[in-house]
Amino acid sequence: MADTMQKFVFEDATVRGELVDVSETWKQVQARRDYPQPVKTVLGEMLAATALLSANLKFNGAIIMQIYGDGPLRLLVVECDSDLNMRATAKLADNAVVSDDATLPELVNVKGQGRFVITLDPKDKLPGQQAYQGIVPLDGDTVATVIENYMLRSEQLDTKLWLAADSEVSRGLLLQKLPHEGGIVIDTENDLATWDRAVMLASTLRPEEMMSTDVKTLMRRLFWEETIRVFDPQHPHFLCTCTREKVGTMLQMLGQEEVNSALEELGKLAVDCDFCGQHYEFDPVDCAHLFTTEAPVETLIAASPIKH
Ligand SMILES: [Zn+2]
Repeated sequence: MADTMQKFVFEDATVRGELVDVSETWKQVQARRDYPQPVKTVLGEMLAATALLSANLKFNGAIIMQIYGDGPLRLLVVECDSDLNMRATAKLADNAVVSDDATLPELVNVKGQGRFVITLDPKDKLPGQQAYQGIVPLDGDTVATVIENYMLRSEQLDTKLWLAADSEVSRGLLLQKLPHEGGIVIDTENDLATWDRAVMLASTLRPEEMMSTDVKTLMRRLFWEETIRVFDPQHPHFLCTCTREKVGTMLQMLGQEEVNSALEELGKLAVDCDFCGQHYEFDPVDCAHLFTTEAPVETLIAASPIKH
């Protein structure tokens, strides 16, 4: 079953919504690793949330959501681009101990140093153009509330999220109150009434129901009495953008001295992609090529297929 993203708007009110099921993508994210259950919950929820927020991308590019943690969980990263290609990973602290019922703050905000970061990265940057990045302290006890608080404070957008994830399933619902044309935020009585009603209906949704029900059924069950316009469904999927060339560039950035001393110790360099687990190896000849200006990296890549 392909993953689904279903966007909709409430007719005659500035309220939009999305339902997303990224369970297949989620399975591929977990394919080569085994996270503790509470980490699966928060990363799975963040995967659904990132797909939902990718609709706010106003250009061809990617949205990257990150949580930097100060507890047993050090990093959560989810990326989604305009074509709904997604990838995600989590990093635990060395010797991390995670209790089965650990909450988000217990995972990433033990000393209050947790950070939430949203990056909007245009694909074809104009000269001098940079990615937009918002960094805020972690404010909220769940992935949904952290993002809701961020959207309200940084984007002035009333956003509500309902997220549910376990090892098998990752689903989410978003409701957002939009500014009127021209960016004017004046809510009519009708806008407010629709918003309140939509939020109330969505709040009847229990996580168990969300886990066990497909997007189409959820949509019907929640909003069957509403006048809504439903758009054609879209299909998020897993795709990692790692390449041997990018790993080569990373090694070049480490510097020749660093690379040579690692080679002396290890004989060859092995790098595994954090997102997809793809294994890359660079032997002394490959590494020597990285630091000779005569041989452009592209030529080298073409000449050295990935070894396993
Ligand atoms: Zn990869």
